[in-house]
Formats: sequence, C-alpha cells, structure tokens
Amino acid sequence: MGKDVKSFTCERCGASFSSVANHARYCVDCRKIIQNERVKRGKQYRIGDMKTCPTCGKQFAITSPSQVYCSTECKPKRKSSSAEVVASRRKNVDTLSFYMPKGSRAVLQESCDRLGLSISDLLRTALCEFLERETPDVIQKINTLE
Ligand SMILES: [Zn+2]
Ligand SMILES: [Zn+2]
Repeated sequence: MGKDVKSFTCERCGASFSSVANHARYCVDCRKIIQNERVKRGKQYRIGDMKTCPTCGKQFAITSPSQVYCSTECKPKRKSSSAEVVASRRKNVDTLSFYMPKGSRAVLQESCDRLGLSISDLLRTALCEFLERETPDVIQKINTLE
C-alpha cells in the first residue's frame, strides 16, 4: 500500500506542507521548535512512564505524573510527622485555652495575617507584654521554665 502525500497547514506558522502522515499539525521547522520548547519545559510525565528512583536507582513505572520515588521507603523521611511534633510539643508545654465570643478567631486571624503572626504568637505576645507591665515577677517565673 503506497503512502499518499497529503498537504497540511501548519498550526503554528500557517505554512502549507506535505506529509505522508495521516495527521500532521506542524511543518518540519515548527515541529523542531516545539520539540525544543518541550525539552526546555522538562519532560511531561504520564502515568505508566518509566522513571529512575533517585534513592535506589531502580527503574519504575509511575502511578502519578509527579511521582519521584519508586516507593514510600525511598522517599526521604521527614524528621517526624506533624502529629509526632504536636505530641512531643504537648509533653513540654501547657496548653491554655479560654473562650472568646463566637467569630473572634476569624477577626483575630485577619489581624494576625496582617502582622505575620499565628494566633498563638499573638496571644503569647499580648500576654507576655501584659505580664511584664503588670506583674514582672510572674513573667520572670515563666521565663525560667523555658
Ligand atoms: Zn510551521
Ligand atoms: Zn527507590
């Protein structure tokens, strides 16, 4: 079966070109340019593509385009999970809680965002400033606990 040469219009530059392919979107020049652009952008991975695991060097088929490591064992371990961090922090701290009118958190959060503080930081700072002013001995005692 002889291959027919068909003519196409390049979607990129609009030039007419001929090709034996059934579908061709770009002329030869534009195809090269587009390929170079793809290389520059980095290879787009698709599920099932092979990658090399940077930890064990094994080739594996990815199950998601962003997968980097072959398995969870090869993923660099974070020092500890956030749950562990919270648990160990609880051991070393007292948690103070108190009630504020409903909606206070959102209002506080808004001003915290402006100040670049967390709500805890803001409350701690406010409390310490108050104690320093009103009862310096209390803040001194607290400071020796740290
Ligand atoms: Zn073209
Ligand atoms: Zn691996």
